Amino acid sequence: MQKTLIIKNAVLFTGPESGKVLKNYDIFVRNGIIEDIFKSGSKKINAKKTIDANGRIVMPGFINSHMHFYSSFSTGLNRVKPSEKFIEVLENLWWRLDKKLSLKATYYSALVALINAIKNGTTTIIDHHASPFAIRGSLFEIEKAVRSCGLRASLCYEVSDRDGKKKTIEGLRENYEFIRHNRKNNDNFVKGLFGLHASFTLSDETLAIASDLGNSLDSGFHIHCAEDISDEEDCIRKYNMRIVERLNKFSILGPKTILAHCVCVNEREMDIIRINDAPVVLNPQSNANNAVGISDILKFAKNGILYGLGTDAMTNNMMEELRAALWMCHLKNKNPSAGFAEVSKLLLNNQKIALRHFDKIAEIKKGNYADIVILDYYPHTPLSSDNFYGHLIFGISQSDVTTTIVNGDVLMENRELKIGIDEKEVFEKASNIAGKIWSSF
Ligand SMILES: [Zn+2]
Repeated sequence: MQKTLIIKNAVLFTGPESGKVLKNYDIFVRNGIIEDIFKSGSKKINAKKTIDANGRIVMPGFINSHMHFYSSFSTGLNRVKPSEKFIEVLENLWWRLDKKLSLKATYYSALVALINAIKNGTTTIIDHHASPFAIRGSLFEIEKAVRSCGLRASLCYEVSDRDGKKKTIEGLRENYEFIRHNRKNNDNFVKGLFGLHASFTLSDETLAIASDLGNSLDSGFHIHCAEDISDEEDCIRKYNMRIVERLNKFSILGPKTILAHCVCVNEREMDIIRINDAPVVLNPQSNANNAVGISDILKFAKNGILYGLGTDAMTNNMMEELRAALWMCHLKNKNPSAGFAEVSKLLLNNQKIALRHFDKIAEIKKGNYADIVILDYYPHTPLSSDNFYGHLIFGISQSDVTTTIVNGDVLMENRELKIGIDEKEVFEKASNIAGKIWSSF
């Protein structure tokens, strides 16, 4: 049966590649694919479902290029010792929380994050998962949650040596099995990367095995890279080289690999990143929260590096993260005009990163999959193709996403979820699980 949808009367932002604002336009979608875009009223097309945007902003769904679903259970957690250093944040919070995750907890933490993503118009997510006492099958549980929400996600398990050899091997196996399973499915919803935690928790032996496995699958890797100076210091002390040099030595870098953070990389490392065409994913809110520094977006841009944006689980709202990226760039350069163009490019760069993993998304054009959001924003000042990003950062970002559509399926309409999941029930269940986890903190 044909599935057709028409979105009427849009103020349409076509996407970061074409960058056009088109006023009073309709979008016609058939079986998940954008078939036509035309001036409202200029064509008579009937569709099974009609959504009237009524002059609101319609644009491609957002992409989160570095996320941790499992962090959902940290919201409100107040039993954690204060941390003075980055490593203490890991030891006191994250490495205690992730060890308590069962497969069920993993599933619910992901479901909560995914529902929040729908509510914030984030339609594609690149996640990085850890649950050292429930590794086997964890990515398959997350996949179930992703599929039940109808979003697109790339999943991986963060391998590390922090919990002993057995856990390392289980992590390696989980990535390998999940990527192979995923290849068989071969759809445009769930993908796999080979996950690695960070240089300072990975021995040469583990990196070598991960490199062999990941490269044999041509999957690309997803790793935290130079998030804190202590990671660089550890690498120099143990291996007499910087992190990116070490990752390069083990053939971890490449166009599909995600290098999250890169707060502390130097010029030589940037050269290696560029030569390998590996994308860097910035997470400004997380870096500010952990007090590790501000990654240098201007230098990444100047050096021709593909730099994207993730939230590192600080939020599911990419517009909030985009604003933070701009404020942090101003602060770093002590210049309130620094980096507007470079920060605006984060949307385009996230699109480029996502297109290395998913097909035909992130741009509203004929032939693409319909991943579309509607925002409750009526421009109250002149809006054109020339000033869209000013509206996005300072205006649209302050508005609710009312409707989220992925692959032509309406996942939320007028703030109401349409995915057959009782949100309140899911959140109550999640809260019960989180409560039990917290009680053993
Ligand atoms: Zn992270």
